Amino acid sequence: MLTVRNLNTHYGNIHALKGVDLEVKQGEIVTLIGSNGAGKSTTLSTVTGLLKPTRGEITFNGVNIAGKPPSEIVRMGISLSPEGREVFPALTVEENLSLGAFTRNDKAAVKRSYDRVYDLFPRLSERKKQTAGTLSGGEQQMLAIGRSLMAEPQLLMLDEPSLGLAPKLVMMIFDLIVSINKQGTTILLVEQNANMALSIAHRGYVLETGRVTLTDDARALATNE
Ligand code: ADP
Ligand code: ADP
Repeated sequence: MLTVRNLNTHYGNIHALKGVDLEVKQGEIVTLIGSNGAGKSTTLSTVTGLLKPTRGEITFNGVNIAGKPPSEIVRMGISLSPEGREVFPALTVEENLSLGAFTRNDKAAVKRSYDRVYDLFPRLSERKKQTAGTLSGGEQQMLAIGRSLMAEPQLLMLDEPSLGLAPKLVMMIFDLIVSINKQGTTILLVEQNANMALSIAHRGYVLETGRVTLTDDARALATNE
């Protein structure tokens, strides 16, 4: 589904990605793990068009998407839930979700997406008219994921969804990621919490200072020292 080859990204003179190769196949949960500053967020930002690569190829379903604008990439089927549960605090849960459907015109289909999100996240369903700023951190994270699902992506990218959440909520979020995958959405999950990520992923990549240093199936990576 997604193939990244020799991806290079710079921030001015800072060479953040130094030839990243990775692949995500339809139906998989793939995790990208590595310490702070390794290039995980930069990889997601480059694939979703927020940053332009300086070199390399990004193909999605056989189409070259490198350098395409972010909105076009959403239309093609990739949606990003960015780090830091970015929701609009003054807007209601429902309004935040509606923003995630900005690429879509079919009202009946969008209605089905709301139903899907509310089924996955009953806590959001109970708080449709509440402003996002009044939600707990865990609920805001659910809303951020729910909003990215409103685009009905084929590939959902999640940037550190467990960051700053209590252990019980982390478990809940990871269970939800598995449910979303079982409904047919392919997942690319960026995590610093490698053990948690590998416990639900099929395969993983380890990133260190802008390079992939290890890739294997999740079980093998989890037992690797
Ligand atoms: P994380 O590693 O948790 O994803 P980042 O390293 O991306 O966090 O940093 C968070 C914010 O700081 C982002 O807006 C990023 O663009 C900015 N940032 C990170 N490193 C630098 C840097 N060296 N120079 C300027 N801005 C930076
Ligand atoms: P990770 O997500 O793995 O924590 P990032 O992709 O955020 O790593 O960062 C990779 C490298 O790029 C780091 O060295 C970071 O400091 C640098 N970086 C990230 N964002 C910026 C930015 N806006 N400007 C300059 N350097 C940045």
